[in-house]
Amino acid sequence: MKAVIFDKPGLENLKVEDVPIPEVKEGEVLIKVMMAGVNPIDYFVVTGSRKAEPLPHIPGAEFAGVVESIGPNVTNVQRGNRVVVYPRLFDGTCDMCLVFKEMLCRNGGVIGVSCNGGFAEYVKVPSGNVFKVDEGMDWELAASMPVSALTAYHALNSASLSLNNYVVVVGASGNTGMFATQLARLVFGAKVIGVSRKKWVERFGAFMAVEKEQALEKVKEVTNGRMVDVVIDPLGAETFLNSLELLRPNGKLVTYGVLTGSNVELPISKIYNQQLSIVGTTGGTRRELADLLNQYKWLQVKTWKKFKLEEAKTAIESLSSPERDGRIFIDLTTQ
Ligand SMILES: [Zn+2]
Repeated sequence: MKAVIFDKPGLENLKVEDVPIPEVKEGEVLIKVMMAGVNPIDYFVVTGSRKAEPLPHIPGAEFAGVVESIGPNVTNVQRGNRVVVYPRLFDGTCDMCLVFKEMLCRNGGVIGVSCNGGFAEYVKVPSGNVFKVDEGMDWELAASMPVSALTAYHALNSASLSLNNYVVVVGASGNTGMFATQLARLVFGAKVIGVSRKKWVERFGAFMAVEKEQALEKVKEVTNGRMVDVVIDPLGAETFLNSLELLRPNGKLVTYGVLTGSNVELPISKIYNQQLSIVGTTGGTRRELADLLNQYKWLQVKTWKKFKLEEAKTAIESLSSPERDGRIFIDLTTQ
């Protein structure tokens, strides 16, 4: 099979090679990949800021496809099923797994990071990670559920967002932001202000798109100075302190990314005087993914570009392109 592979970190070391199709063992499922979403985590893996195992390594944390074959004792899927793959590896037995927080598993990992991923014609995964999807679900949306949509959904759940709450989504046109915007509006019934230069976020559920320089002023204006209940901010250091300023007393800031840097100086007295909460989240649970797959008909994905497997390097580099306007996929539907 063809696979995107590297034997040492660095985008320049990424190649497309013929490698053997993985052999499925007990409890494993072989998937023919149809579409793979490209995310910052893939960039971090390929460039070495996340340690990849094994080497040589096939990246790709988010993908959807068709079951090609199953190993012994697999009962949840059959050959031919359309599926998506929950990206967190988990043992199912530790204290975190026992309370259904598989993404915090003591012995966990991430598919495409701590084992080979989905930037290949075929990938094998544990059957507990495989979820069937509707025949009617298009491949781009399917390949956005396990990382982009799930991360957004878990962040909103962790903020206990409720009906008619005001929420600001920072980076509303990004991979997770476009889903946080839609889910906050359509599933939670919140009023969403999207921080983005892209006006299309207003078609995805934001009642207003604002540029980040105007966010404070606009939030004051539309809330009559009351400010917002929740801010979802995956961007990190550059926006973090501004996001705190957008919160009402007792408000919550949810963080799950550091694209613009990892360190800030925190105004501790503001946090306790206003009783603010800073909530960290990572990925989501299997239960939340199952929930999302039942609600997919409400959701859409904004696609910018689809690349062939052979163009994976350009696809990953394009994540930081200033022209990027929507998601990047590796499309294997014609392969
Ligand atoms: Zn565990």
